[in-house]
Amino acid sequence: TATAVEEFDAIVVGGGPAGSTVASAVALRGHRVLLLDQQTFPRYQIGESLLPSTVHGVCRILGVEEEVARAGFKLKRGGTFRWGRNREPWQFSFALSPRLSDPTSFAYQVERARFDAILLDNARRIGVVVREGCRVSDVIADEERVRGVRWTDPDGAPREARARYVVDASGNTSRIHTHVGGKRTYSEFFRNIAVFGYVAGGGRLPKPNDGNIFCAAFDEGWIWYIPLRDDLTSVGAVVSRENTAAVQGDPAAAWRRLIDACPEIRDLVDGAPQATEAPYDQVRIRKDWSYWKSQLWRPGMVLAGDAACFVDPVLSSGVHLACYGALLAARSINTSLAGTVDEARCFEEFEARYRHEYGLFYEFLMSFYDMHQDERSYFWKARKVTNVRTTELEAFVELVGGLASRDAALAGPTQVGTRLTAAATDLDEVVGRLPDSDGLRNPLYEAPTFRQTFREGSVLQERGVFGGPLEEETPLRPGGLVPSDDGLDWVATGP
Ligand code: FAD
Repeated sequence: TATAVEEFDAIVVGGGPAGSTVASAVALRGHRVLLLDQQTFPRYQIGESLLPSTVHGVCRILGVEEEVARAGFKLKRGGTFRWGRNREPWQFSFALSPRLSDPTSFAYQVERARFDAILLDNARRIGVVVREGCRVSDVIADEERVRGVRWTDPDGAPREARARYVVDASGNTSRIHTHVGGKRTYSEFFRNIAVFGYVAGGGRLPKPNDGNIFCAAFDEGWIWYIPLRDDLTSVGAVVSRENTAAVQGDPAAAWRRLIDACPEIRDLVDGAPQATEAPYDQVRIRKDWSYWKSQLWRPGMVLAGDAACFVDPVLSSGVHLACYGALLAARSINTSLAGTVDEARCFEEFEARYRHEYGLFYEFLMSFYDMHQDERSYFWKARKVTNVRTTELEAFVELVGGLASRDAALAGPTQVGTRLTAAATDLDEVVGRLPDSDGLRNPLYEAPTFRQTFREGSVLQERGVFGGPLEEETPLRPGGLVPSDDGLDWVATGP
């Protein structure tokens, strides 16, 4: 017998950070939201190192900040890097932000299975109808707009629901994003493969930086070292895609070999054994993770999180971009449902801001890779901006499409290349000054590339902490929209 077709205001596919954020932020406005995830939580995911904007901005807006604080995740005060010309490791501390000082200048290193389950349970508490073990197979659409989804329930029965909006927050592996149209472009520059696993124990950096993420560059790429608990550390190597066959052949052996090839990480691991508890007992692989979509919405459907785009793991920007994009999508859905601003205008704002933020991280990361000047190493030589093919730079110009705060869209690829190299030199120079800094100011924040990249994150953080940004938010473009005081809607500034 056919079950009745259910009706909602919004249907969210995926219960990761993007899905929980958008579902909660729409439900907080009193709308009826259905969230479907094919897995049963808690479930494993990579992406353990967070930024303060997520912890103090998004989590506070969603009302889950205190619960996250009580979960006992490892406090992350910043990052430690063996990167660039400076052979000595250098620190980047959130506390030295000139915009925000303690007590919010930290983030967490999280076991994602626990963190994501907390966000999902919070969504449930807010009123989102959450159904696990439900795999969405199709999107229902006509020529005008997307109208709902089809899924299979845990008993294997086909189901259907309709809504004014469908949000695809189904991560990097699903194909649901194709229903929005446009194409997914993969970056050549960031075409890497990651092989990651866990050690039981392992050394810690000296206090108070013992919770920092440590990223160490070596000949073949770089390795992250993320302390999750006293007895658990996440260790992952990012290497060229040319290593795929070797890594896939025996991931655990490749992981051990790469750790041994990077002296700073080998010393920290200090012979700690591989973890034996599930889900940390496996060595896993991810590749092809850097991409963006040429289109992020169509009437009735919008993409958020890895479904939309992902850059590169070195700056821990994945969960930030996922939650930020999800919040932008929620504002557009809320405002459009309220009927205060035209639908297209709402979603154009979403797309412009999301693309802008992604573009900033993309550009920053290219410069960040470029500053590691090791001409002898294949990995680093291939990631020098001066070697980047014109098509990649053209794709970047297309990506930011006139939205980057600087002039990428107006400049040709050669000028973009020159600017990225200059930005890398700028960063390198600032990093060189870090060890001599007086501890009161973080010289990194003096580098315009750096300041600009983390600006939206700071604004989001201020919103969560002070209930609104410290400075009045200006539209991104003339006639653009600005967030409402509580951050859940858009407000028009002009006609
Ligand atoms: P996900 O967390 O992937 O959630 C998607 C959900 O959708 C899943 O639960 C899945 O079950 C569900 N789903 C999929 N298909 C369907 C379907 N058809 N029907 C129903 N449900 C479906 N980010 C950081 O912030 N810090 C880091 O340190 C970091 N390190 C990383 C290291 C590597 C090697 C990589 C590749 C990424 C890293 N990231 C990091 C990025 C981070 O993993 C992602 O950006 C983040 O998990 C995206 O969240 P999401 O909500 O978009 O998707």
